[in-house]
Amino acid sequence: MTTAAKKKATKQTCGICGKSGKLIRTECCGNWICDDNENYVLFSYARNSCSRNHDRYTLCGFHHTEEHAGHWKECKECRESIETEMYVWYGTNEYNFEVLENPPAFEPTHCAVCNRVIHLAMDGYSLRGDDYLCMECTYREMGGLGGGSS
Ligand SMILES: [Zn+2]
Ligand SMILES: [Zn+2]
Ligand SMILES: [Zn+2]
Ligand SMILES: [Zn+2]
Repeated sequence: MTTAAKKKATKQTCGICGKSGKLIRTECCGNWICDDNENYVLFSYARNSCSRNHDRYTLCGFHHTEEHAGHWKECKECRESIETEMYVWYGTNEYNFEVLENPPAFEPTHCAVCNRVIHLAMDGYSLRGDDYLCMECTYREMGGLGGGSS
């Protein structure tokens, strides 16, 4: 017996990046994706692995990991357990095979100190209680500059 799976005439490609290298099917949704988890450097937080990105940064992966019922697009548990801004990003970013058709609207997150918009998925930020601080304000506060209430 050969271990090689029967291949179709058409070459499979990764549904995320389009490469046709070593592919596996995702556990969550059965789509073809790069079998590149081993490329991931532990604790590097690099986002260069298709399968890892799909597992970690999409509703599909989250929904599967949390063992929710039904489809992630209709899942109330996902919707309730993830902040709306991140929920929308998880559901629409480039690590998805299919994206949320009608992502919910959300208020942009503002820095509690300087009021600039913080993109939670892209920008660095820190949490002070329920307040979000942009990285600049975080560093300023850590450095103790301009300290003291007026
Ligand atoms: Zn890929
Ligand atoms: Zn999936
Ligand atoms: Zn779910
Ligand atoms: Zn700020």
